[in-house]
Amino acid sequence: MTFAKSPTFDNSYARQSTQFFSPQAPTPVPTPNLIRANTALAEELGIDPQWLISPQGIATMAGNHIPDGAEPIATVYAGHQFGGWNPQLGDGRAVLLGELIAKNGIRYDWQLKGSGRTPYSRGGDGKSPLGPVLREYILCEAMAALDIPTTRALGAVTSGELVFRDQALPGAVFSRVAQSHIRVGTMQYFAARQDNEALLNLSNYLIDRHFSTAKQANNPIAAMLDEIIQRQATLIAQWQSVGFIHGVMNTDNMLLCGETVDYGPCAFMDSYDPATVFSSIDQNGRYAYGNQPAIGHWNLAQLAQALLPILDNSPDASEESAVAIAQEALNSFPERFLIAYQDIIKNKLGFAEFTEPDDALYQDLLSIMEQEKADFTLCFRRLAELSDEASCINNSVRELFEFSDAFTPWLQQWRQRLIEDEQTPAQRQAIMFKANPVFIPRNHLVQEAIAAAEQDNDLSFFNQLVDVLQTPHTFTQDKQRYAMPAAPSERVFQTFC
Ligand code: AMP
Ligand code: MG
Ligand code: MG
Repeated sequence: MTFAKSPTFDNSYARQSTQFFSPQAPTPVPTPNLIRANTALAEELGIDPQWLISPQGIATMAGNHIPDGAEPIATVYAGHQFGGWNPQLGDGRAVLLGELIAKNGIRYDWQLKGSGRTPYSRGGDGKSPLGPVLREYILCEAMAALDIPTTRALGAVTSGELVFRDQALPGAVFSRVAQSHIRVGTMQYFAARQDNEALLNLSNYLIDRHFSTAKQANNPIAAMLDEIIQRQATLIAQWQSVGFIHGVMNTDNMLLCGETVDYGPCAFMDSYDPATVFSSIDQNGRYAYGNQPAIGHWNLAQLAQALLPILDNSPDASEESAVAIAQEALNSFPERFLIAYQDIIKNKLGFAEFTEPDDALYQDLLSIMEQEKADFTLCFRRLAELSDEASCINNSVRELFEFSDAFTPWLQQWRQRLIEDEQTPAQRQAIMFKANPVFIPRNHLVQEAIAAAEQDNDLSFFNQLVDVLQTPHTFTQDKQRYAMPAAPSERVFQTFC
């Protein structure tokens, strides 16, 4: 018999200057209980899945046990929140337990979210209610299954204590895995203090950890900025393509490694409307669905601004030339976003190539969807079925969504366009199915999972939902309820952090 083995940590961030963090142990909780453990992810990370679900693994996820080699810290950052500058933020309800080198050779952070107060908590308790932990688990794992870069859920535990918000709620701790948690706001923190040495050290650290190509460039920091812009352009294009609304695109919630982070009041859009906002704290719709690309660009401008003092490494460096480097990189964002987005749209519409008139065709489809209040996800899914209808007669979403008469002229144009496309219907449909998932984490289902857990201590619906969302492209009739938009009585209008 072999014993479950504790993971091996290698904490590179904790070895950096102590300006970047404070040592901080998680606060132990009374009675941890496992909610769910992601044993598949554990395998990838080189964590023994048996250990993760053992009493010691569960105690680790709760913050009650610090495995050998872990060096828990809370990291410091700043950020623009809803456009307003906040010079001092940081991990106020999270600690970075340590780093692991995964089987693919990539280094990952293991963070405990909701693990108690830190020097950056200010007024807050550093804890998390169960609801937001379940929401983050469902959403981030759904995003991973959709192949969208994201932080991951390694596991979650209840704490056995109450957390006080506007009411007393069961508490929980979430184990989050990210390629790193370094944010736009981390750079901004040091820039605001005019600490160029820290900026340089942090940039070199990032380049070593995430940007091996930039490392070879003449100006590695400029190349890093360029690569960060590229990754965000691609990421936000992917968000738009599935109707994901982040909800709090503050600069402290944008990771430089390019993964989606901070699943607070985020949600997926049901019927198409670019003005869609769910977050209860987004009063003016700053982070509405249709604004996300522009906000991404704005956040990247804050990053470029923070990097200005170290952006030009030439012998005759000047502020003007640094500004020119930043400006050129930033100016590339809209075009890069468009290229990434059009690359996805062509797959959503089933075209081998994106040609210029396709843009108008796509915009027309969106206009009809908006006017018909059509479900974004099912509309595209049904379109994918129509591309080769005979093949999916038994597993069609037809009963859940059918094109209304308003779409008829558009569908004729689309079929006309397909005549000049060289793919076979089967090839086309395979690509369309991949680009047009049938299962997204629908807000009312997420809410139902949270309510069952909070009120009845019942995790079965949460677990079913996580399972279904792992194969978002494969529809069978028995899973209809997971594909359906909310009935009017089920509709959720607001989400909370
Ligand atoms: P977020 O809205 O999750 O991006 O958090 C913004 C800032 O508030 C971060 O610095 C968090 O660490 C901090 N924060 C959020 N919730 C809490 C809490 N319950 N206790 C202490 N700090 C918190
Ligand atoms: Mg945050
Ligand atoms: Mg948050």
